[in-house]
Amino acid sequence: MELTEEQQMIQETARRFAESEVQPIAAEIDQMGKYPLELIEKMGGMGFLGLVVPAEYGGTGTDTVCYSIVIEELSRVCGSTGLSVAAHNSLGSAPICIAGTEEQKSKYLPEISSGEAVAAFGLTEPQAGSDASRTQTRAVLKGDKYILNGTKVYVTNGGHARYMVMTAMTQPEKGVHGISAFIVHNDFPGFKIGTHEKKLGVRASSTTEIVFEDCEVPKENLLGNEGEGFKIFMQTLDGGRISIGAMALGIAQGAMEAAIAYAKERHQFGKPISEFQAIQNMIADMATEIRAARLMVYDTSRLKDEGKPFSAESAMCKLFASTMAMKVTTNALQIHGGYGYFTEYPVERYYRDAKLTEIGEGTSEIQRLVIARSILKD
Ligand SMILES: Cc1cc2nc3c(=O)[nH]c(=O)nc-3n(C[C@H](O)[C@H](O)[C@H](O)COP(=O)(O)OP(=O)(O)OC[C@H]3O[C@@H](n4cnc5c(N)ncnc54)[C@H](O)[C@@H]3O)c2cc1C
Repeated sequence: MELTEEQQMIQETARRFAESEVQPIAAEIDQMGKYPLELIEKMGGMGFLGLVVPAEYGGTGTDTVCYSIVIEELSRVCGSTGLSVAAHNSLGSAPICIAGTEEQKSKYLPEISSGEAVAAFGLTEPQAGSDASRTQTRAVLKGDKYILNGTKVYVTNGGHARYMVMTAMTQPEKGVHGISAFIVHNDFPGFKIGTHEKKLGVRASSTTEIVFEDCEVPKENLLGNEGEGFKIFMQTLDGGRISIGAMALGIAQGAMEAAIAYAKERHQFGKPISEFQAIQNMIADMATEIRAARLMVYDTSRLKDEGKPFSAESAMCKLFASTMAMKVTTNALQIHGGYGYFTEYPVERYYRDAKLTEIGEGTSEIQRLVIARSILKD
């Protein structure tokens, strides 16, 4: 796939930014578990936080291939930064683009796109993970406000988001058709940030619980109509999965580059280990599978841009790219031998960060369900 001039320009800009601003602090923020607020500000200025938003609402108005390229380039040096930006764009602002009224779009999207406000997405609950239709958070309309009670877990950007798009049950008797979506502000009465999770990887991203205790949400913050929340969120995840594919791709690319550099410099038995066929085979497989994943991520992005069906394809690209990223990072660490096990080299971070891509926005098992359902439906 040839990239257009605009896509190539964005690739160069994103790579330059990632290498000069993100890479130098990636190991430190990972070790400290520190969300890099100063990077978020800079990325707002670069347009990286408005990548799925049309220009009329303050976004870049660029296509999904450009968006995937930015996530790939950021993740190539830092999975945490890739995840934070992906969650902000394709989970935080996308549902407002999909289902927001004109008033909601004009109110929220410019602030979110500039990075003045970070955005998050709350679907998962303690008892509603893969089966997100089991939402237990309740929203009851009282006068001109909905009163929300419940808990969302594992919310990326949760500790820093000014706005969170989330689901709650408004009509429990209707099951999945009784779930509605809301835009909630972090300063609404009854909005509380709960536990800050300590994680295996993507440690410099923020993952928190969000607790609603009689949280008062104005009626006009309903997103779409009552009962449309689940549909809006599933549509959002179709797009989001492309960005997790792009994140997996970037992590794998970074790990492979680190493995190649190490294999050329490390000598054993009197020669560089890159001259051993066992090492060459691992590198050849990495390069092949990364290329296949890149084609899938870019092609699925193109399908989305052309308004063609892409739900099964986005599940395929996430499934393939995340499986590939786990394999590539495992072998990249293996090529480093004992050195790969320690924090001195970035490869152990890539290995830990890659695991998230097999879990977030639907596990690999759930991607297979989505794909099989689509293939077997006729
Ligand atoms: C770092 C991180 C960030 C996240 N960010 C967000 C976020 O911003 N917003 C948000 O809403 N959520 C977020 N999540 C939640 C994520 O989407 C869920 O963890 C994921 O969907 C799985 O849900 P679960 O953890 O409850 O696992 P479970 O659903 O309990 O699954 C446990 C195991 O059972 C398997 N399983 C479940 N059902 C089936 C089935 N029908 N067939 C076969 N196997 C099955 C799963 O694949 C998995 O292996 C995040 C998670 C992590 C780890």
